Amino acid sequence: MHIESLARPGIRGLTPYQPGKPISELQRELGLREIIKLASNENPLGPGARALAAARAALADCHLYPDGSGFELKAALARRLAVEPARITLGNGSNEVLELIARIFLGEGTEAVFSEHAFAVYPLATQACGATAVVAPAHDGSRGPRYGHDLQAFADRITPRTRVVFIANPNNPTGTSLGRDELRQFIESLPQTTLVVVDEAYFEYVDAADYPDTVQWLPDFPNLIVTRTFSKAYGLAGFRVGYSVSSTELAQWLNRIRLPFNVSIPALEAARVALDDDEHLNRSVALNQAERAVLSRELAARGLACIPSVGNFVTVDTGRPAAPLYEALLQHGVIVRPVANYGLPQHLRVTVGLPEQNQQFLNALDRVLAA
Ligand SMILES: *Cc1c(COP(=O)(O)O)cnc(C)c1O
Repeated sequence: MHIESLARPGIRGLTPYQPGKPISELQRELGLREIIKLASNENPLGPGARALAAARAALADCHLYPDGSGFELKAALARRLAVEPARITLGNGSNEVLELIARIFLGEGTEAVFSEHAFAVYPLATQACGATAVVAPAHDGSRGPRYGHDLQAFADRITPRTRVVFIANPNNPTGTSLGRDELRQFIESLPQTTLVVVDEAYFEYVDAADYPDTVQWLPDFPNLIVTRTFSKAYGLAGFRVGYSVSSTELAQWLNRIRLPFNVSIPALEAARVALDDDEHLNRSVALNQAERAVLSRELAARGLACIPSVGNFVTVDTGRPAAPLYEALLQHGVIVRPVANYGLPQHLRVTVGLPEQNQQFLNALDRVLAA
């Protein structure tokens, strides 16, 4: 086809990101009324009431362009994180910040290193920019948590062409996390010509004792970029707002190519107010901790082991090809996430939902497994 030959080579080979199936799509396909979606790690409690009220109030200003600098939200984040506002870059989801990083630093002749089973955006962003993706095999269980990032395998693959290292901590879809000492030592070992992105999309959920707050390390590492988001624990995925914290110099580069009005007025307002709503955040985190334990235990009782997760999801080894199970669960109105495209063809990723949603999932699973 003529147009294909005009597209840049990196784009030609690209398989687009596969999102969780939207509820409305399954409704159209099956005519089901009762559908639960545990497929995109969204907060089952929804947005906090205060954030929602702020977004509603902001609608009255939507004939105006947003503040392209995101001054108020950056100021609130800066207070919260105890960093200078100039270190912060706002994105249309943290996904956009990952794209900005790739577009600035990755291209023909450069390499990005990330883990096997890592978040799908890293290979996509790398390939779209024409850079070479270098995949570090995950732990096999002998020297670290099985399926988790193996930082020695990363280190072995750093070359003078490595511009960016993507680390998801915790990782999606495995739910595995890295401890303070191993991560810090790895970052210390990197050459100054390599940037390290630590993607902390699930930061607020993590309760592991040795989980690092890498924003604290920024003064020590000018090549460190930390990304976080309002999409997961804050329950604002549909607003599309995330951010990075880095050196001010890196932030200036990110802002150079950022679209002028990349975060909408309601999103800026919802995020600003959500940051101060500790009650909703704490409730979300507590619910997740309790229900993640229930889900893991109930799955284990059915002979299905989960990868130990510190996030708001569990990835379960179904012991058989998972695609038919995924399809059968859809017929019961339950949307989970197949992860064959992450190299895990026998696993399903299940977002931790409300108690009744988790029970509905388990009931549907029982029926599917019995069939
Ligand atoms: C969900 C997720 C993100 C990005 O979410 P945004 O909605 O774009 O902020 C980034 N990294 C990981 C690992 C995720 O799971």
